[in-house]
Amino acid sequence: MIPHPAWLEIDTDQFQKNLLAIRELIGNRQICLPVKANAYGHGLCEMSLIAEKIGIEYLGVSCLKEAHHLRNSGIKIPIIIFGAIHEDQIDQLIDLDCQPTLASKFKAHLFPQKLSSKIKVHLEIDTGMRRTGVRAENGLDFLSYVESLGRFKIESIYTHFATSDTPDHPFAFEQIKAFYPLTMEAKKRGIKSHMANSGGTLYYPDSYFDMVRPGLLAYEYTPNGASHPKIKPCLSLKAKISYFKAVPKETGISYNHLYRTDRESRIVTVPLGYADGYRRSLSQAQVLIRGKKYPIAGNICMDQFMVDIGQDSAYVGDEVTLIGKQNEAEITLVELAKKGHSIPHEMLASLSTRLTRRYGALNFK
Ligand SMILES: *Cc1c(COP(=O)(O)O)cnc(C)c1O
Repeated sequence: MIPHPAWLEIDTDQFQKNLLAIRELIGNRQICLPVKANAYGHGLCEMSLIAEKIGIEYLGVSCLKEAHHLRNSGIKIPIIIFGAIHEDQIDQLIDLDCQPTLASKFKAHLFPQKLSSKIKVHLEIDTGMRRTGVRAENGLDFLSYVESLGRFKIESIYTHFATSDTPDHPFAFEQIKAFYPLTMEAKKRGIKSHMANSGGTLYYPDSYFDMVRPGLLAYEYTPNGASHPKIKPCLSLKAKISYFKAVPKETGISYNHLYRTDRESRIVTVPLGYADGYRRSLSQAQVLIRGKKYPIAGNICMDQFMVDIGQDSAYVGDEVTLIGKQNEAEITLVELAKKGHSIPHEMLASLSTRLTRRYGALNFK
């Protein structure tokens, strides 16, 4: 691996603990681990290999490209593709033994009729997300129709919550109610049902059915950032200071000089920027150096940004923590996302592949 001064530390022990905690919560049901978007920035193949090893039943990706990476790295367990499949992807989808989502009768027709074995598919039902899927009231008709085509083995029907990040949200209960009758029909035919994302897994036990699909909860957090006794973050973002200088009072720092020192100050440069997913909107955020929080000085650049350490000392090569703990001090992904007018999902999905990913058991408390 090429040494690089900006990296993610991924605590693989904590990841397994999170998955075990989810197992405990859901009892005798299956888990589909969403690993789309590079496993929420944690590393698609690395996280998937761990999941496979500890017996997770399915992986969920958004597209064929991600599934291709997984099969290329030797992953054997079933892969569900959540996103739409296009006609020019079907041959490879079958070659890679992936299980697509059918979200309309039209899509079902794109698949060839005469295959040596039936294609395993998952039918998407829209109970209120209003993104993709057949409306719940037409669900049974859709199910019977796909069955009648004879070329598919329907593995499951599923739907997606729009408001499950909030406990006791009336619309979440409405969605469960809309989905429930279909799940009974599915059960009669030996077809699984699933619904719960992280919010569903945590706050809506009535949505467990046969399987859950928790993403954020498996890697990091409860969906609203509330603490949980067993589920903890497994990712830290760190870098090494690349430059140090002392500047006089009233010095403008970075593009457009939006930041000006209010005293004689020491400025250090950190070698990562918005190209790495450390968004420009984080220019008001703080970082940890030597166990203390310091403000970012001025606009974040594409590959670098500056930090004002006042009269304190810090030198080239010192470790900077952007997400995670240093001694007793901590910057959480949730608080950082708020500062950047973002959400943890988006922040994680933006972490670039340029950042080195280091895996191992770390000392999270
Ligand atoms: C991304 C995704 C999930 C996981 O969502 P989280 O909020 O991260 O738990 C579950 N199901 C589907 C279909 C998804 O696309």
